[in-house]
Amino acid sequence: MYIKRRGSSGCFSHITPKSKIMIGVYWILITSLITLILKPSVFSTVATKVKEELEIPCIRNTSLTTLESLVACYDPYTIPEQFFNQTTYDAAQPTEAESAAWLGLVNDLLWVDGNCTDVVVPPILNQVYGVSVFTSKTNTSEETGTNTSYCVLHERKAITLQPDSPTFPFFPYSYIKGWGLFVVPSSKSPSVTRRSAVHLSAPHPQFDLKTPEQAAALFSGIGAKSLLVAGRSRESFMTPTSCVQPVSSGNSSDTTVYFVTDPAHNDKEPFVQASFRIAKWQKGQGGCPASSCAFIQMHGKGASSCPQDTMFLSSGLGNSASSVAWYTDATDRPIKRLQKNVRDMFPSFTASLPSDSNCSLTATTNVFGRYLNGIEESAVCDNASNATLATGVFVHIEQAIASRNPDAYQGWIQALSETFPVTSE
Ligand SMILES: [Zn+2]
Repeated sequence: MYIKRRGSSGCFSHITPKSKIMIGVYWILITSLITLILKPSVFSTVATKVKEELEIPCIRNTSLTTLESLVACYDPYTIPEQFFNQTTYDAAQPTEAESAAWLGLVNDLLWVDGNCTDVVVPPILNQVYGVSVFTSKTNTSEETGTNTSYCVLHERKAITLQPDSPTFPFFPYSYIKGWGLFVVPSSKSPSVTRRSAVHLSAPHPQFDLKTPEQAAALFSGIGAKSLLVAGRSRESFMTPTSCVQPVSSGNSSDTTVYFVTDPAHNDKEPFVQASFRIAKWQKGQGGCPASSCAFIQMHGKGASSCPQDTMFLSSGLGNSASSVAWYTDATDRPIKRLQKNVRDMFPSFTASLPSDSNCSLTATTNVFGRYLNGIEESAVCDNASNATLATGVFVHIEQAIASRNPDAYQGWIQALSETFPVTSE
């Protein structure tokens, strides 16, 4: 429009030379003014997210007394919704070499026994990620006379967000990469870990609110083997993933589109890659016996989603007849033990399995759940498991907010401790 208006003013041949000069001066002033008006919006599309880099202070914050408070400190750095476009997402994804180094660190940390700082971050990552010791100062440690220490694999730097970011000012920062936060006990000593091979995770930070803190509290409370928290919102990049495709549940309008940064539905997300690595490590330890071992994902559902169920527990199988039979047969399975124990601990809550409820949050499309339930890693985008393949070691917990609140932690810790007894390693 700007160029057309200039052209429509015609030639200047009938105007005096002095007037031409004045018109030229006016023209320069007008175009400068237009440029100034346009400038902020032009810049905002480029610089929306990037203001300045900062060192994330959580790991050195000595006022943080529990692992839960440390994880809560990192939560605001989760890459927020609508942050990425294709270019910035591609830039944040690990290269092949970076991925190998990062997953190597996840693997090395699972072997740690009193030697966190022996795990050295390779040069390719040492500006991005760090391995640090975090020592909690809780009542539990006072009782045992020892502090409880953890090795933490954490992203080191963040950027500050501009005021036009969708999550500003609630979350004013963002990780740069957002591959995730990984924690293991620093020692295999019984005073630190109860040697139950339980791996906890929180795939949906900033979306399933309070689940990272809850997963951390349960991880430390039961002395679990590992804790993995995703570093990106499931809506950080709201482009449909090419992995799990929307499914219709009988009603063609009743479909869910899964986004690229949703680690429940895209196997390329670093959270999923790390989950695969943890599962392979566990397999190398002789496997994951359903009597004492599991991979537990903590999720949170909205008030209008399956309102009849405070807790909806599943193992990656849905409501088909064969799946319902799997949930109700005589075989002992983690999900059945857990349901019994949470019912005992939370008598006022409703804790259902897919065999008790028509809630659709059954996690049959969860890529890590599919892997644990016998689907090849290369096929998890397209293939669901079934009652013949399912192992039962995938535990998917959907919860109303009441179940995620800190006053429910102790009940959860007791229920999980009884569900996954200490092994005699
Ligand atoms: Zn979730």
